[in-house]
Amino acid sequence: MTLEDKMHKIEEEIKRCTKCSLWKKRTNAVPGEGNYQAEIMFIGEAPGRYEDLQGRPFVGAAGKLLTSLIEDIGLTRADVYITNVVKCRPPNNRDPKQEEISACSPYLVRQISLIKPKLLVTLGRHSTKFILEKIGVKVSGITKVRGTLFEGEINGVPVKVLPTYHPAAALYNPALKDTLQADFRKILEIIKEKNQVKKGVTLDFFLKSDR
Ligand code: SF4
Repeated sequence: MTLEDKMHKIEEEIKRCTKCSLWKKRTNAVPGEGNYQAEIMFIGEAPGRYEDLQGRPFVGAAGKLLTSLIEDIGLTRADVYITNVVKCRPPNNRDPKQEEISACSPYLVRQISLIKPKLLVTLGRHSTKFILEKIGVKVSGITKVRGTLFEGEINGVPVKVLPTYHPAAALYNPALKDTLQADFRKILEIIKEKNQVKKGVTLDFFLKSDR
């Protein structure tokens, strides 16, 4: 089976999935989209209204901001892969519940295992908490970790992780847009490996600071 075949198989499973109750009210599940050989994967929280209607990730107002942040650093959506931790819309855009994240996140882990991106950019506290905990970092809040580069392994895939705010947060609080832009500027440096994470130091610091 080719990489495309394997990714399509996951997408079809997600579209038919009934593993948590979110399937009951969805119009469309939103598996994710972009380049299956991307070096960079953006991971949000869950689809919103427009994403549910179109079956595509980040197509509403927050998605427009994400697209412009990606284009500002000289990339396009076709260069990267964009998805969420939870693939169906929670009613009224409420936060995903822990049991929904537990039911759905194996799809994301499989997507990471196949795409093998060098860098995961986690957008907001839910995806940041999920991914950092996967690499053994406890997170008490997004503001403590955003803009900091971590590294670890997910399902045998070595990954760097750059947490930042969810673009939707900058719609409510425009002051956060500058911070998002600053974090996005780090992406290219990381991919070019100019900005190496200090192995162990960052992880130790945050593990200790969370105790
Ligand atoms: S949110 Fe995930 S686990 Fe729940 S029904 Fe949708 S695809 Fe399945």
